[in-house]
Amino acid sequence: MHDRIVRNIRLLSPEGWQAADLAIDQGRFSAIGKTDEAGREIIDGRGSLCFPGGVDLHVHFNEPGRTRWEGFSTGSLAAAAGGCTFAAEMPLNSIPSTTTVQALEEKLHSIGAKSHVDFALWGGLVPGNLESLQPLADEGVIAFKAFMSPSGTDDFINSDIATLKEGMKRIAPTGKFLALHAEDPAVLDPANRRLARRSNALDWEASRPVEAEISAIEIAIELAGETGCPIHIVHVSSAQALAPIAQAKAKGVDITCETCPHYLLLSIEDAERIGPDAKCAPPLRYRNSLATLWECLAAGEIDTIGSDHSPCPPEMKAGLSFFDSWGGISGLQHGLPLLWHRCANDPKSLFQLTRLSTLNPAKKVGLETKGSLKIGKDADFILVDSKTPPEKIELRDLLYKHSASAYCGMEQSLAVRQTWLRGNPIFENGAPSGDPTGKFYRLPSESPAPR
Ligand code: ZN
Repeated sequence: MHDRIVRNIRLLSPEGWQAADLAIDQGRFSAIGKTDEAGREIIDGRGSLCFPGGVDLHVHFNEPGRTRWEGFSTGSLAAAAGGCTFAAEMPLNSIPSTTTVQALEEKLHSIGAKSHVDFALWGGLVPGNLESLQPLADEGVIAFKAFMSPSGTDDFINSDIATLKEGMKRIAPTGKFLALHAEDPAVLDPANRRLARRSNALDWEASRPVEAEISAIEIAIELAGETGCPIHIVHVSSAQALAPIAQAKAKGVDITCETCPHYLLLSIEDAERIGPDAKCAPPLRYRNSLATLWECLAAGEIDTIGSDHSPCPPEMKAGLSFFDSWGGISGLQHGLPLLWHRCANDPKSLFQLTRLSTLNPAKKVGLETKGSLKIGKDADFILVDSKTPPEKIELRDLLYKHSASAYCGMEQSLAVRQTWLRGNPIFENGAPSGDPTGKFYRLPSESPAPR
């Protein structure tokens, strides 16, 4: 007798959708496929499509210190609404940044029992915190993040080459990797000086050309080669920036990369219309480059998809020019559903896309119990309904602390009805199912320092 059986769902394979049931015991999958076995509780899946819970390695909930921008309570609920059951919080823009063990403990204390989804924390590499890297790895941060160009806040300083190199040397033996915001200030600065005008979205794109990404990625690849430290390039904006990564992979460099839904869904021309809600760095690119990014995704050149959900209070966007406003896109709640919408009639692409937002990120950080619908794994899954006609994303639907999103007005044909975490529903029909039950995951380093 199983604890629970969710009957009448449909599972995705590259060939299409198959009818199935899910059995759950002690929060884990115990049978998958059609089953006649009995369950203490039977749930009718109502023919919904079933995906593994999303694993988002790139969120900024800004807790503690900038909880007025988002916070774990609202951010994690939006994650559940957007089909994620696991989120990894970046080391910035909380205050303090997660660059010491003390800051990590402070962050955990502040988060308390507020998270609706399971979560982990990133550690930061900044000038001056080299001695904290091993202790942070021992405390179970998933990996480290550094900026090669200014981060946008004064409390997370970008790393010069010497810091990156020494940091990588120290990260390599921990078994962790270094994630990089890769834009080269040596390319950004002259691009900025050349600008005739600094007002609209197109100027913003011109101020941060793709060449800045390529140059930074090339530097990072060289450092990875010298130090043996695995690297992960976050938020790659275009196919051009993927080329050096693919070449390095072919040469055996331990490098992976992430893109974000907004680079696949929105162009800089869209940003011109949307305004600062669509501002990010690296910037959105021109419309004609989006198709090539999708082609690279199909060719297997992208390893993970992360939201880079990075909200701010309305006064840091509204009424300001593109240059004066905060750079960050609120997209956690609709990024994945909008990507599914694009592939709704193409099971092969949908299957591949799903791997990039579930299994691949889970594997990348060694989360063995997450990321797929397999017997023995945590019963983290989402039930998704088709909407005919597609529904429009409205401001009133947003669960973030502030109702703003670059995706408002767009249409989605696949919408999350229910989200399950470790065998229990946590979100249903636009609202939480109960109090938050998200657990903190420590991912200890491979070779902890002797205590
Ligand atoms: Zn980010």
